[in-house]
Amino acid sequence: MIPTANISTFEPFPCTACGKCCRQVHKSDQTAFLDRGDGICRHFDAATNLCRIYDNRPLVCRVEDYYKTYLSSEYTWEEFIRLNLEWCEKL
Ligand code: SF4
Repeated sequence: MIPTANISTFEPFPCTACGKCCRQVHKSDQTAFLDRGDGICRHFDAATNLCRIYDNRPLVCRVEDYYKTYLSSEYTWEEFIRLNLEWCEKL
């Protein structure tokens, strides 16, 4: 098992920047505060399909940092990736 205390050398989360999660922030209590009123994040740029505040996006949008802060004692990084990818597939 890979230790959870140090994920700095872990593979990055395999985000494809599809933008689905940013367009459905109303579906999670964790991201609902970002909803601009139609389920889409107020910081999402539909023209580019990118985040307008990427470098300063909230912790919940920083997959690696969120994992380190809240979930590294519950899941391995690989398990966390798998669970997140399952959620990606549902969006
Ligand atoms: S803040 Fe950025 S990364 Fe987070 S949901 Fe909004 S557009 Fe997406």
